[in-house]
Amino acid sequence: MPPQSVYIHIPFCTNKCHYCDFNSFVTNNPRLIWDYLEALEREMALTFSAHPPERVETIYVGGGTPTFLDSEQMLFFLESVQKHLGQILAPDCEFSMEANPGTIDREKLAVMKAYGVNRISFGAQSFDDRLLKRLGRIHCADEVDKSVNMAQAAGFDNLSIDLMFGLPEQRLEDFSRSIERALALPLTHLSAYSLKVEENTLFHTLYQKNQLPLPSEEDELAMYLYLIEKMEGSGFAMYEISNFARPGRESRHNQTYWLNNEYYGLGAGAHGYVEGRRHVNAGPLAVYMQMTASGLPRVEEYDVEPDEAMENELILGLRLTRGVDLGRFARRYGRTVEQDFGQVIREQKDKGMLEEVDGFLRLTRKALPLGNEVFVQFLRD
Ligand code: SF4
Repeated sequence: MPPQSVYIHIPFCTNKCHYCDFNSFVTNNPRLIWDYLEALEREMALTFSAHPPERVETIYVGGGTPTFLDSEQMLFFLESVQKHLGQILAPDCEFSMEANPGTIDREKLAVMKAYGVNRISFGAQSFDDRLLKRLGRIHCADEVDKSVNMAQAAGFDNLSIDLMFGLPEQRLEDFSRSIERALALPLTHLSAYSLKVEENTLFHTLYQKNQLPLPSEEDELAMYLYLIEKMEGSGFAMYEISNFARPGRESRHNQTYWLNNEYYGLGAGAHGYVEGRRHVNAGPLAVYMQMTASGLPRVEEYDVEPDEAMENELILGLRLTRGVDLGRFARRYGRTVEQDFGQVIREQKDKGMLEEVDGFLRLTRKALPLGNEVFVQFLRD
């Protein structure tokens, strides 16, 4: 069965946030954006003729800031999606788009809605204006409220926000206020990630100069535990180590990744996984556009060997709170988890980090904040 999920990357932003190492570019050149959208359309045509999809269950438009596109550009982009996938979209296709507060308006939302977008994920990050400024975000807390409410008024009922914690000089009280503000909004979903200081970012430079006063590990852990307690006490289930949803509103697209299922990946710097092969697209815009003029813009492509697929299945699947479906694993690989990873699993069970419940292998409650320490045990080379 061809992939049933599609990721599309829109790499433009109004500014570069101080912690960001995503493939995103700041531009005020509309010609560049139009050229990119045309190249993206060519990539859709090439990809879907080489590997025709049969049915699309989820689409996720990420960035960058997809809502950086103006209404006309958004219309062109969504018409391209419609042209290539419109006939095979599942009736209940989950069609998500990332948005940044302050980059949507009624006209743009109307175009998104008319073309089937039915889930919006806002990059809020915090409701603390001082921290937002420090992160290099362009919006303020009130704009998050305004944008989420505007989306709801435009008829979107599946709304998510991202928050960050472990930010410079952030205290538990600061983070708890952000969660409170988030919970006052009509959200169905919330993701919360701790800050990772990535290379080639302003934060990394500051960190190296000892000018990034991050909270201690204990304080960061306290924020994470508070997050879980607060969200679970407010009608949101934790279904992945960083993700919370109201019943039935878990991100179906993101579960594609955690279930180690295949997906098309389109756009500059996008990753994809199709017919047993993973690929990475060219990241720089000029290279991406030049390559799509004559073929697929791949800079890396390789077959995923069964050993790697099994490792991925465990490492990704253990991020889900329900864990890895052991029966599915055995059907998929013709081998049981026990055969390949029995010793690691026994050791982690003895340490109280893993448990088996109703045919699923999962992190214990105590191991949730320490997932990476467990995942790394499953890497064989
Ligand atoms: S808005 Fe998102 S993608 Fe753009 S620079 Fe900021 S963090 Fe990076």
